[in-house]
Amino acid sequence: MISKTKSLLIFSFIIFTTQYSQAVNAYTDFVVTPITKNIYSIVSPSIGLPTPENEGWNSNIHFVVTENGVLLFDTGSSEVIGNKIKKAIQSITDQPVRWVINSHSHADHWLGNAAFAGVEIIATTEAMETMKKYGNDDVAFYHNVTNGTIGITHLVYPNLLLKEPLKRNFGGVEVELLFANNGHSPGDILMWLPEQKVMIGGDVLSSDYMPMITDHGDIDGLINTLNLVVQLNPSIVLTGHGSATTMSSVIRDSELLTSVWEQVKLDHKSGHTPVKTLSAVSVKLSSKYEPLYKDFTTQLDRHVKLMYQLKGENEE
Ligand SMILES: [Zn+2]
Repeated sequence: MISKTKSLLIFSFIIFTTQYSQAVNAYTDFVVTPITKNIYSIVSPSIGLPTPENEGWNSNIHFVVTENGVLLFDTGSSEVIGNKIKKAIQSITDQPVRWVINSHSHADHWLGNAAFAGVEIIATTEAMETMKKYGNDDVAFYHNVTNGTIGITHLVYPNLLLKEPLKRNFGGVEVELLFANNGHSPGDILMWLPEQKVMIGGDVLSSDYMPMITDHGDIDGLINTLNLVVQLNPSIVLTGHGSATTMSSVIRDSELLTSVWEQVKLDHKSGHTPVKTLSAVSVKLSSKYEPLYKDFTTQLDRHVKLMYQLKGENEE
């Protein structure tokens, strides 16, 4: 049985991703992109639904090579993908992966943990609760939609659970794990490298595409987190989907979300409908934001409807 929340999650995911299904790139080998000294990304060419063609690989991972091992941020959507990530990292360094961070509980960011069983795997307590609840369903869902091309995945859960943000030195590299106020999903974390001024954001931050709001995220929390990131003034921003970017994307997302959310709150209070709000925000925001996102028009509609839904739920 899939719960109501679970089907909503999948439904939101499908709405979010269907528009890309025609444009999804064919599956390609994992390519490691150097970002700055000792920081690397493996960017998925596909950000849409997991499909037989992309073999379920639809999210980015990032890693830091330290003097004492590799710190990995996210592990992809399956054990096979996790093993490919491991192999790609070995093409860069002889250091083993010693620490894994799971940015959040969505399947495409942690099901690859199985390839790193035995190392320290860090996530928040809240993310872990969601993983435990939906992990088996997620494996089955990914297996089905990829016609099994994703392979067999064993669930390996985080083994160091955070109840509060953490500052820690990993192999000589200062790292801060920041809580994202449940902006995208319960228990999201961001990884901040203060010396390099690199912010790694999972799905809380976006580059080419509209912010990834969800029906179990917190819009105010997301806006607050984006503003916090801006205050930290990162030079490089790495995201869970799409290419590397800079702080200008974070400012853009914060301003856009604030505009739409304020309008929804106002209109919802006045008893208006999403259709009326959509037309108002389209007129107000399109000329500025349409050139800044690859999916502005289709996602604006989803944003307004989802914000109305969240506003309604808050008041129940
Ligand atoms: Zn996500």
